[in-house]
Amino acid sequence: MAALKNTSNFKMLTVLAPKYCPRINARRNLNLQEYHSKDLLRKNQVTIQDFRILDNSLDTKALTGFKANEYVIKAQILAGGRGKGHFDNGFKGGVHLTKNPDDILKLAKNMIGRKLITKQTPKEGILVDKVMVAESVNIKRETYLSILMERSYNGAALVASPAGGMDIETVAEKTPHLLKTVPIDIYEGISENLANEIAEFLEFKGQLKNKCAEEIKKLWKLFLKVDATQLEINPLVETDDGRVVAVDAKINFDDNAKFRQEDIFALDDVSETDPREREAASWNLVYIDMDGSIGCMVNGAGLAMATMDLINLNGGKPANFLDLGGGVGQSQVSAALKILESDPKVKTVFVNVFAGIVSCATVANGIVAACKENPPKYPLVIRLEGTNSDIAKKILEESGLPMTIINDADEAAKTAVKLAQ
Ligand code: GDP
Ligand code: MG
Repeated sequence: MAALKNTSNFKMLTVLAPKYCPRINARRNLNLQEYHSKDLLRKNQVTIQDFRILDNSLDTKALTGFKANEYVIKAQILAGGRGKGHFDNGFKGGVHLTKNPDDILKLAKNMIGRKLITKQTPKEGILVDKVMVAESVNIKRETYLSILMERSYNGAALVASPAGGMDIETVAEKTPHLLKTVPIDIYEGISENLANEIAEFLEFKGQLKNKCAEEIKKLWKLFLKVDATQLEINPLVETDDGRVVAVDAKINFDDNAKFRQEDIFALDDVSETDPREREAASWNLVYIDMDGSIGCMVNGAGLAMATMDLINLNGGKPANFLDLGGGVGQSQVSAALKILESDPKVKTVFVNVFAGIVSCATVANGIVAACKENPPKYPLVIRLEGTNSDIAKKILEESGLPMTIINDADEAAKTAVKLAQ
């Protein structure tokens, strides 16, 4: 089964969970730009480098009074691997060092308004709108530290490695002895002992060990305070002047905590989100983009997986998934169909619903309403099973709209694949 896109938020979990487990995430878990995450770190006394932000106006007023021996200029996108990435104009690296203040703007001009392509971005890259200009630190060693919610522990876990600054998946695969994963008791939190043990594992010695332990405890406090699902510092460095500094930061937040983290959720940068995903979210639906030609409307992640299998087994590929979830109304179903159809990759729409909570009649009414408003551009293959499926069938048949209704899921998938060719 092909792995789904949009799994970058779960990068760390793949270290701990079976590697090629495909996921359809009902939740996005808000991801912030590095500079927003670092603002949170700073407010919570975690040691970071002082920084300013240059935006697409390239107005250097933002840098007034900002002096350093050396500067680090970093493209701000919601993906990692920037240092080793490249831009669509051929410019290499989304992280650059310079001692010359006059070079800052030159470097920024090569990044802002360009797409940065890294191991974690889509093939075409992500448009850079802002760069961070920070005072550079002289790095002696790079380590890795993250705190995350881990399903297999039913709670939080701490992941640490003295081999930081690189892909943690590679460390897990090639040098697993350099990776330590420790479950955290949610009541006890990160104790003095645990913080020290991790600092030692990260090879901080003497005073530095105490400093590192302090940073770890502050990171845990922040993790709890902001309802994070993941807080990753890669690298957490040792500098040549004896400091422990969080050089990079990635924080994800539990979407269920939005109501009590309003200030943080207000920082959501939706400019990088697929517009169809945004539209779906505004209807409380989940949209997942893929690269085939069959638009799929389903209910529930399990049925999405099964539908993907059926399509693949019959030689086709899904263009996307729209998960209705439970308890949808007719207008949401109509919106869902419009969103699916607006994807230029779509050649056929396959509705595969197994109704328990939702009524097939609601889905049928939603489809008919959408088709009456905008006659369908593509063949529609519909399989509705479960609650009120008989009524639904009648509604669809009596609508007189051209659609193929098939009860058997496999047969329906086969037909959708054929029609998409
Ligand atoms: P990422 O590539 O997206 O993970 O971006 P990072 O912020 O982690 O930066 C990538 C790499 O650039 C780090 O692992 C460091 O090796 C290097 N780097 C980042 N900031 C500094 C800095 O202030 N000084 C020095 N000397 N190197 C840095
Ligand atoms: Mg990094």
